[in-house]
Amino acid sequence: RQEQFRALRSVEPLTKDGKRISLQMNAGLMVDLPQLVESGADGIGLFRTELQFMIASTMPKLEEQENFYRNVVKQAGGRPITFRTLDIGGDKVVSYFRSHEEENPALGWRAIRLSLDRPGLLRTQLRALLRASSGGELRMMVPMVTEVSEIHAVRDLMQKEVQHLSKFGYNLPRKLQFGAMLEVPALMWQLDELMAEVDFVSVGSNDLFQFSMAADRGNARVSDRFDNLGKPFLRILRDIARAGERNKTSVTLCGEMAGKPLSAMALIGIGYRSVSMAATSIGPVKAMLLGLDADLLAAELNAALDDTRSSEPIRDLLVRFAEAH
Ligand code: PEP
Ligand code: MG
Repeated sequence: RQEQFRALRSVEPLTKDGKRISLQMNAGLMVDLPQLVESGADGIGLFRTELQFMIASTMPKLEEQENFYRNVVKQAGGRPITFRTLDIGGDKVVSYFRSHEEENPALGWRAIRLSLDRPGLLRTQLRALLRASSGGELRMMVPMVTEVSEIHAVRDLMQKEVQHLSKFGYNLPRKLQFGAMLEVPALMWQLDELMAEVDFVSVGSNDLFQFSMAADRGNARVSDRFDNLGKPFLRILRDIARAGERNKTSVTLCGEMAGKPLSAMALIGIGYRSVSMAATSIGPVKAMLLGLDADLLAAELNAALDDTRSSEPIRDLLVRFAEAH
């Protein structure tokens, strides 16, 4: 099967009814980069910048961050990379960064919350990203956004860095694309406001699922208790895809479910056209979608999601559809 997937590397990811699906990979370290060409991914849909911080014994300095990002950009050879700003706290521990003991770390001082409270840290990272992308395109996104005002705050800091760099004669990126991760359910009721403020949205389905179901993703007793292909979560994800269409904002999903062929199929069925996953999943997901009639699936899946009387699990419908086609 490995051989079979390898043969698909240069095949365009088109569904049987001609829908182009962007297949991207998740990464975070230099060792991940060769897989970009190896897997045939369209780009890096999620670059977890906190990994450089997690493997270091002291806080990486501006130059170290800049060199690292520059290397990543160079290795990617022109394929787009979406850098996520620091997502530390919660399950991502950085030993030298003193954070207080928290009773509920997943709901605590983490990600963009921490970055906005330590603007020096965030500004250093933004400066490193801007400098490493000079003359090219910089795509960056912010994790764990809860309110649109946090986007404004990050944009303000970004603007300050842009001004600072241009004052000192730096060559800025040719294009800047600014995105938000959708991981906190409260954003579901700010979708139009959010999409008016950003160039793209990336759904962090690992966190969005744990917060939607109130089920700790790291606690085996409850993490698999509810189905992420069940009605509630697929309806949530469908609402996001529809908001993206309505606002003409591109939406990607970058959680683990994107890498499972059956889940990726469901995502395409509810309207997703861009997904980001572990590099090793690109082949299996591509093999699935090449044989998929997306419109046919969409009709069946949407009808089932709108049916308030049927109690048939959606997963069963998806398995049946996959077997029949
Ligand atoms: C997610 O939450 O789905 C996500 C992609 O981010 P992480 O897994 O790094 O929290
Ligand atoms: Mg997350």
